[in-house]
Amino acid sequence: MTALLETRGAWQRFGGLIANSDVSISVGRGEIVGLIGPNGAGKSTLFNLIAGVLPPTQGSIWFDGEDVTNMPAAERCQRGVGRTFQVVKSFETMTVIDNVIVGALVRNTVMREARRKAHEVLEFTGLAARADVLASDLVPAEKRRLEVARALATEPKLLLLDEVLTGLTPTEAQTGVALVRKVRDAGITVLMVEHVMEIVMPLVDRAIVLDLGKVLVEGKPSDVVRDPKVISAYLGD
Ligand code: ADP
Ligand code: MG
Repeated sequence: MTALLETRGAWQRFGGLIANSDVSISVGRGEIVGLIGPNGAGKSTLFNLIAGVLPPTQGSIWFDGEDVTNMPAAERCQRGVGRTFQVVKSFETMTVIDNVIVGALVRNTVMREARRKAHEVLEFTGLAARADVLASDLVPAEKRRLEVARALATEPKLLLLDEVLTGLTPTEAQTGVALVRKVRDAGITVLMVEHVMEIVMPLVDRAIVLDLGKVLVEGKPSDVVRDPKVISAYLGD
């Protein structure tokens, strides 16, 4: 069976800066893949190419057997690409449930159905007790979970998580890890960006390391962490 997601020779230039340089990666159905690498490596840019926020300068993006390179973000979301943003974009003046309904409306045009789906997702993500709280009143870890909940409400085949575990306490991060496993067990493929290797490595089936816009190494987490190229990229020499 073909991969769920493939980038083929994807480039992204911002003026003179090359944020993604000939990036070819693939994510198989049912996998949890970690996309790691130092700050500025091009991880969020690659997410933008996959989600359709930016068109690649060169190369193509394939999702679920289809070339989606020129497909707008909203249409990719309809096809099953769900994402969170590194900078939390929750609608602060809206309640938690209303934030999730925004996601659910992608698939359910009937409000009653969207609300039912949103409640189901809040149960799944452990936010049900916070349904009627304003998003601005959530603690940071809950805001991250709300981002995940809103993305899940769009009923994705592929969930793109951008640093949802970064900056959390160890206990909060473990709760997040458990949620990612639960997402995969529900049949959703996960591609997650994390800066902190200790958190992602035990969780992912496969790791892809980006450095200076290029794929540096990819493979089993246990091999990747021991790779001298990865160690030196992280130490910054
Ligand atoms: P990461 O997520 O791995 O930290 P990014 O993808 O955010 O890296 O950024 C990669 C590089 O591209 C950085 O040098 C960043 O400053 C640059 N960059 C990202 N987005 C833009 C943009 N919209 N315009 C110009 N430069 C950008
Ligand atoms: Mg980033």
